[in-house]
Amino acid sequence: MNRRATGLASRLRRLSEKLSYLSRAVQLIWAAAAGWTVLWAALLVVQGLLPAATVYLTKILVDNLAAALGAGLSWAAVHPVLVPALLMGGILLLTEVLHGVLGWVRAAQAELVQDHIKTRIHEQAARVDLAFYETPEQSDRMARANSEASTRSLSLLQNLGGLVQNLLTLLAVAALLVPYSIWLPVILFVSTVPALWVVLRHNALHHAWWEETTEDRRWAGYYDQVLTYPFPAAELRLFGLAGHFREGYMGLRRRLRASRLRLMRNQNLAQVGAATAALAVTAATLAWMATRALRGAATLGDLALFYQAFNQGQRLMRSLLGSVGQLYGDALFLEHLFTFLDLQPTLQGPARPRPAPEALRDGITFRNVTFCYPGSTHRALDAFDLHVPAGKTVALVGPNGAGKTTVTKLLCRFYDPTGGAIELDGVDLRRLDVDELRRRCTVLFQYPMHYFATVAQNIAMGDLKTPPSRERIERAARGGGAHEVAAQLPQGYETLLGKQFRGGAELSGGQWQRITLARAFYREAPIVILDEPTSFMDSWAEAQWLDRFRELVRGRTALIITHRFTTAMRADLICVMDAGRVVEAGTHRELLARDGLYAASWTAQMQAEKDLSQKVPE
Ligand code: ADP
Repeated sequence: MNRRATGLASRLRRLSEKLSYLSRAVQLIWAAAAGWTVLWAALLVVQGLLPAATVYLTKILVDNLAAALGAGLSWAAVHPVLVPALLMGGILLLTEVLHGVLGWVRAAQAELVQDHIKTRIHEQAARVDLAFYETPEQSDRMARANSEASTRSLSLLQNLGGLVQNLLTLLAVAALLVPYSIWLPVILFVSTVPALWVVLRHNALHHAWWEETTEDRRWAGYYDQVLTYPFPAAELRLFGLAGHFREGYMGLRRRLRASRLRLMRNQNLAQVGAATAALAVTAATLAWMATRALRGAATLGDLALFYQAFNQGQRLMRSLLGSVGQLYGDALFLEHLFTFLDLQPTLQGPARPRPAPEALRDGITFRNVTFCYPGSTHRALDAFDLHVPAGKTVALVGPNGAGKTTVTKLLCRFYDPTGGAIELDGVDLRRLDVDELRRRCTVLFQYPMHYFATVAQNIAMGDLKTPPSRERIERAARGGGAHEVAAQLPQGYETLLGKQFRGGAELSGGQWQRITLARAFYREAPIVILDEPTSFMDSWAEAQWLDRFRELVRGRTALIITHRFTTAMRADLICVMDAGRVVEAGTHRELLARDGLYAASWTAQMQAEKDLSQKVPE
């Protein structure tokens, strides 16, 4: 008994939670389209009351018609029939007009709500920690919040509207039945209880299925993208991978389809059972009313009203239940949307942040920094110490996985260190405003974005806070080596990049790298971070660029990650990283003299080049 009570209590708690999401959804709708919502509600009330008026007019019409039967075509005989008939015609016409107007109002409202929800999702997606994108659970959450945002907003409006309107009609129709027997409305409501149970249960089962299969559906989405997106198209053809991915997709779809159909079959069987029960109740009440009419206790008009009211009542109850079920489904969905929107970024600045320095005086310091990525126990950085003096260029070199990129991510405060501290001029990054800190940095990421936009826009995206100026764009382009790329394009700086949209031109990897480098230089920030800036450049381009590079970073503090000795050599200080810490530091000459890891790597590369040149045919 006790367990049952707690079970019931927890169910009620869950239900009230869901209802709270519905009330938040109504607030969301209000915020997105207040005026339309008022209009929508007014139309619903009118539309909800019209069917009851029709039912009532039917009774008057039938009774007056029965009285007028055989009375001839005199005005006195026709008049009592004509008036309700015309009124009914007017109401039917009004119903149609309202139906159209309501459809239009709802479409406008749904569009606004949909855009409002999307904007909230977009804002939140840019606000959450970068770590959010790195766990499958969060990716599921994002997929659930995002996937149905647009369809659910329309469905929510339709169902809320359906609920309000049908409830009003039902109450009005039930009121018409009360004079015959107080039990009739009760029987009407009770006869639909099995259907309500089916609807609610099915919605819960469907939602559980939808949640359970989110990851499978994301996999199917991934296979679909691999098969249809342009980026993998060349590899798919060369390695003949299309069949492999198609099989993966079809396997998943087979599983998803089978489980969905099983669910639907059970639901439909239950629906048939519920409908049979409702039908039996209708038959019984109709029989009762018919015997009353036979005994002379009811008029023909009463019988017509009763039949219409009961029939309409059952139909209304069915669509009401449909709306309730759908709303329940919407509430379950909204739970995902609101949990996503409620996520708070953990990387927030303090209430009263220290101002981030416009220009560094001392430099950047990593003090005994330890860092494990979220969900991992591996130390990507382990007691890592580094000082980048203000105005100098430091190169980070070392084997793959040494932790070089991680250093740059921590410096931009995409993550906080697990232990130790990172300081700008002696101030811990956690004491600065996050956005201000990021505005002080410019970064060439290891995999920078290739935006489908013009060359000029691609560069100017480095700093959208200030209005773009052609002179500044060209200066940055020359700095990144992109000016020559733009000059070769049909519309120069105004050429659209990326082939997915009409008129777009495609660039090579090296050309793209110059554009993205120009973007990094466009933002004139005191801290410059470049992750493999020359990886795609040929040796001629690299030599040219390196000559310009020192000029570009003059007066700024720069951190460069590189695998190329030719690039590293030019830095003021080279730090060799291995397994998350700095194992050697010095200038190129100092490191060669030390005869450590750097020297070994340098000698190996020189030797390889010598061996190669000896093997080259005369
Ligand atoms: P490098 O730039 O020197 O090649 P990284 O800094 O990218 O190395 O990576 C350092 C270590 O952190 C590696 O062991 C890598 O597997 C791990 N790592 C990198 N990124 C992530 C991530 N997003 N989540 C978990 N581990 C990561």
